[in-house]
Amino acid sequence: MAAIAENWHKSKEKHNSKRRVHYFSAEYLLGRMITNNLNSLGILKEVIQLLEARGIDVNLFEAIEDIALGNGGLGRLAACFLDSAATHEIPLDGHGLRYKYGLFKQQIKDGEQHEVADDWQRFGTPWCKRRDDSTVEVTFADQKVIAVPYDMPIIGYMTDNISTLRLWQSEAVQEFDFQLFNNFEYEQAVSEKNKAENITRVLYPNENSYEGKRLRLKQQYFLCCAGITDIVRNFIKTYGNDFSRFAELNAIQLNDTHPTVAIPELIRILQDYNLPFDVAFEIARKTFSYTNHTIMSEALESWEVELFKSVIPNIYSIIVRINEKLNMVLETKSLDYEQIYRMQIIQDNRIVMANLATFVSSYVNGVAQIHTEILKKNVLKDWYAIYPERFQNKTNGITQRRFLSLCNPELTDFIAIILGSNDFIKDLSIVEGIKPFINDATAKEFATIKKQKKAQLADFIYKREGVKLSSEFIFDIQVKRLHEYKRQLMNALSILNIYYQIKDGALTDFTPTAFIFGAKAAPGYKRAKGIIKFINEVATTVNSDPLMQDLMRVVFVENYNLSYAERIMPAADVSEQISPAGTEASGTGNMKLMLNGAVTLGTYDGANIEIIQQAGFENNYIFGLRVEDIEKIKHNYNPKALYDSDSNIKRVMDSLINGAMQDTQDHSFTELYNSILYGTYWHRPDHHYILADFNSYMEAKLKANNDYKDWVEFSKKCLMNIASAGMFSSDRTIIQYAKELWHV
Ligand SMILES: *Cc1c(COP(=O)(O)O)cnc(C)c1O
Repeated sequence: MAAIAENWHKSKEKHNSKRRVHYFSAEYLLGRMITNNLNSLGILKEVIQLLEARGIDVNLFEAIEDIALGNGGLGRLAACFLDSAATHEIPLDGHGLRYKYGLFKQQIKDGEQHEVADDWQRFGTPWCKRRDDSTVEVTFADQKVIAVPYDMPIIGYMTDNISTLRLWQSEAVQEFDFQLFNNFEYEQAVSEKNKAENITRVLYPNENSYEGKRLRLKQQYFLCCAGITDIVRNFIKTYGNDFSRFAELNAIQLNDTHPTVAIPELIRILQDYNLPFDVAFEIARKTFSYTNHTIMSEALESWEVELFKSVIPNIYSIIVRINEKLNMVLETKSLDYEQIYRMQIIQDNRIVMANLATFVSSYVNGVAQIHTEILKKNVLKDWYAIYPERFQNKTNGITQRRFLSLCNPELTDFIAIILGSNDFIKDLSIVEGIKPFINDATAKEFATIKKQKKAQLADFIYKREGVKLSSEFIFDIQVKRLHEYKRQLMNALSILNIYYQIKDGALTDFTPTAFIFGAKAAPGYKRAKGIIKFINEVATTVNSDPLMQDLMRVVFVENYNLSYAERIMPAADVSEQISPAGTEASGTGNMKLMLNGAVTLGTYDGANIEIIQQAGFENNYIFGLRVEDIEKIKHNYNPKALYDSDSNIKRVMDSLINGAMQDTQDHSFTELYNSILYGTYWHRPDHHYILADFNSYMEAKLKANNDYKDWVEFSKKCLMNIASAGMFSSDRTIIQYAKELWHV
């Protein structure tokens, strides 16, 4: 502990000595830190041996809660970046929110999702250091609160460097004295305390969707005001009041638009130090960069002006000023009216956060090649036309410390033996070195390890879910947030199609498969919840059919979270990455599965494309329409015609309405059925192209299923995927950010 404290202190001083990076994110999906930290310190194995020697259950770490201050991919990316930056001694520290309740815990009852509060701080958080000397006062139109930082050490792998994740907690300005109050004041004081604490009470459980809620805006401003005040204060302490060097010494990365109010907040604070607006603006522009995570319109943030003004009126005034400046710039370019309109920050009585973030930043980046190209061609094309030099791609990555070394020590040792070192834990590009060693012998060894990991997962699933799986089966896995665009429904329908085809004899020679799902649905997302119920209905149908005993199993695991992911990834044979082309910005689950030796059954979308480029078409199963194909068909796409003409499609679709499956109280299966065949007032029929891609998906899925029969050849494909996963390390990603965006 003393060693950590000393290294932490030294690292803090070091990060302050030249240009440093502040990562701003509303979410950090950290998971369990204890085992990860022991692994980073290189003492995990020793600690486990010591525990064993003393007869202490090594599973004791399992009792420790995940820290789930994030929803999914975006929050996990932030956590992977902290790990990679610390490991590679990049002077990066994080700012975030210390939610009292993280992402809800999921319970499944009668096949349906129920949410339970995630009281992760119940037993205290000894690994976080409260810093009462660094609090910040945050002022809203109707409220003043104190932001209290809690610092968490982020321990780099086999290095003395320790980064800091500073999580801000909202508290009342004054602790009240019970003795002094009469009853009325007492109630008043309690209510003030509660109102203050409400700001960081709970993580909003939406991933890839936007809701214009007042408390959410308060959270965002709270994070930004606290973070920026802290950074400026620290700058002044070291360099004094001369802000001409501020941008040279500070870079701030915005993880999506959630922390974009940090831009006007920095301008506001600099103006308080008497800097003219234009000077403050230019400092902000040089300091900030913005990472876009989605192109789906329902997830793009825009705040209603009236709401925004009623929460942070002074920030609104600065945004008005920024918009005026934007229009002065746009006047000098010869643009048409439409284009100028689309670029307005304040537009139609709403504040468009992506426009604000793009205008006042040095760089804008997408998170996979195809995603960045779509940004340049569609969503941000007007901006790309005038500021092409601002646009960059930074394909996402994952940390191999957590997603290989920690969760799959068996595979890690196997690779280390082939390579003669475990340097790949710090430099994943080295795994390419196993390519020359891919042969029958190593493929068989790999298959043995895979089977071992499947048996471990099967044990766990049996304990948790009560479903028995055989490690002889193919493990076909789709784990990610539940969203229509991720098409878990298409997967469920394909399983049902296989089931019906086995039953009616159309499909013989099927290799036994366990289909495993894990996903949380946002609590207010009815269709997503309906899809969970449907998957569970399919599971009941299949699992209770004695004819399926030795052929198929379907499991929906309860409460899929990071710790569950760490058990699932190593056990996968097939990785389902099946979003329609052009919808998944990158995906990172796809990378975790690839690194653990699963083949991708996927569309030409997000980072799947780069995965295939690296690992080869022949080692993966790619299907479905591409972006260009969808562009071509979308205006006269007729899913009803496919339904009418294709008896397989008709049969599985009808299962939604013919009583074969037990629908929810509110008839969500019927609603799903109608949304696909007829659309609704807000979207076209089957706007995620489930029926358009269905047959191509079936074909690829059954090809993989058949290929598995030659499990030695199949294992070689898996090994090729592992060997090709080098570029998907978040070490590569963060080093690119450091060189190409932050110049540190
Ligand atoms: C990696 C991860 C995600 C993101 O998965 P995608 O398949 O990229 O959407 C979501 N949740 C958890 C727990 C993860 O570990």
